Amino acid sequence: MKNLLILSLACSLLISPKSLGADTGLMADSKRVSAVEYLYAEVSDANSILVTIDSGLLSTYQGKDRTAWQQFYRKKRAKLAKELDRLPASGLSAQDTRAIAAMRNQMKAFTGGGALFSPAAKCQDATRKDIAYRDLKSALVACFVEIGNSLSFEGGKINRVSALDLLHETSNPGRRKAVFFAFVPLWQAINGNNEPDSPYRRMIAGAAAEAAKNGSEIDNAARDVGIDPADVERWLVQILDAWRESSGDAMIEPWDFRYQAGEADRLLATFVPRESLQPINQSYYRDLGADLEHMGTLYDLSPRPEKAALAYTEFVTHGRVVNGVWRPTVARVSAPYERGGLFVLNELVHENGHVVNITAIRNRPAFVDWPSDLLAEAFADVPSWSTYEPVWQRRYLGHEVPEQLSLRALYSVVVLDVAWSLFELRMFRAPLTDPNALWAEITSRYLHIAPHLELSWWAVRVQLADLPGYMVNYGLGAILTAEMRQHISQALGAFDTGDSRWYGWLSEHLLRYGSERDTRTLMQNFLGRAVSPQALLEQIHRLKPAAPEATGDHSADSAGYSIFLSPEYPAGFSQPSSQRPQPAWHGYLLWDLPTQQ
Ligand SMILES: [Zn+2]
Repeated sequence: MKNLLILSLACSLLISPKSLGADTGLMADSKRVSAVEYLYAEVSDANSILVTIDSGLLSTYQGKDRTAWQQFYRKKRAKLAKELDRLPASGLSAQDTRAIAAMRNQMKAFTGGGALFSPAAKCQDATRKDIAYRDLKSALVACFVEIGNSLSFEGGKINRVSALDLLHETSNPGRRKAVFFAFVPLWQAINGNNEPDSPYRRMIAGAAAEAAKNGSEIDNAARDVGIDPADVERWLVQILDAWRESSGDAMIEPWDFRYQAGEADRLLATFVPRESLQPINQSYYRDLGADLEHMGTLYDLSPRPEKAALAYTEFVTHGRVVNGVWRPTVARVSAPYERGGLFVLNELVHENGHVVNITAIRNRPAFVDWPSDLLAEAFADVPSWSTYEPVWQRRYLGHEVPEQLSLRALYSVVVLDVAWSLFELRMFRAPLTDPNALWAEITSRYLHIAPHLELSWWAVRVQLADLPGYMVNYGLGAILTAEMRQHISQALGAFDTGDSRWYGWLSEHLLRYGSERDTRTLMQNFLGRAVSPQALLEQIHRLKPAAPEATGDHSADSAGYSIFLSPEYPAGFSQPSSQRPQPAWHGYLLWDLPTQQ
């Protein structure tokens, strides 16, 4: 992996210089600001390289070990702080002033290392009543690593992602219920016995107090869409109501929900073995005009005991102009995959949606950073929702399941995210609420799941502990995802089976700004109007009310649905890649390069 990375960096320097410079908005207006901005870029890279090393992916980078990077980071960061202070407070262009503010703001998030989502804290500290809010959060995240990475099941250990996947795929009802109850130690670690001062209930009180001072992720999301925080709740309820109307009246047990909706996952499971995840993912993105291998993206997809308990994507280095040539962003994806399956593949495609988001940024160093959380999560689902379209399945898996089954599998996961969003929104508003009762109320009313006040079965998402309020970026984000998918289809045509213009076109129209533009402006310009829940509501209404389905013991194959074998492709994933991407955008993309250097 590392060699590949060095190769692509080395190659990028071979591009003949293009007309990059101040006129393209990639450089500062003032020479003094430019010098500080390039120092910022070095500090920012050193920070993300240290975090990469601490994730356990590699021990050296560009020939330097952790100690050398740490020395470099400390020295340059101190210099940067000084230089930023010395910049004049007036007389700069508006763009330079915004860039300085962005650098100051983004620097606050620099940690100088530390493993993301795998804190040094201990899970057992979550039971301590004297612990501060931030330490309590870290202890809860540690529970996801310590317990979530080794759930006991059938005499062995499985991790959280595998257990969720098994809930979709396990036909035997007793076995399925056993998978569900494998989460009990995690639920207890997070929410004790649901007593008023359980770890989660103390933590959410701290989160609500903090949000009252500084605003919450939910306030941020409302601002990013351009609506009132009260409208966020209304929109979430509208989505849940649409699902309620399309999912019949029969109540089901929580351990059967994913199974009942996940027929598509089961029927396609054998066509998505673990080892096929990456080739399928890469093949799809190649068809979308984004060659992930060529971009030098780093992957760390195997489980390790101490590793982050969820999939995530981050910068390794940040793209910038070096000697008049664009040196691309390098991204990395971390995930703990033990198994294949469509549910897992959908998540991997989502993570790589983040990769193409950040590699598509073309801006001055101050703005080569994530857009808002809402836009980032919403955009990552733009390509990943295609995995639940039959045409996508036919092309990339060689098999497809009927549209109704595919859509039900996809939107069951989406509405769970919406349910968690509403759950957090209401916990923030009234942090003394009994979370089990609230979750039972939401899931029984809208998802027809039998209430179990004794079970904290909502406590399976790392984000609930690490970033309280973050779930809104998925729940409300789904509204933006549906909007973006609809608009791209109208502008470019369907892209479920690829379109080599996709990546370049989205870079140009949406992604190149990085952190420069706020989400409301970006979406307004992209859609030509304000965001509305209509596109997502229409998607959910593609679902016909489901006939009550037995969740008894029957094998996937006997469920009465057939899997269609496509005559065009043999089963498997080794299709030839379609058209090579056209280097049509700005002329300095990585694939301008000779491939063999
Ligand atoms: Zn994501």
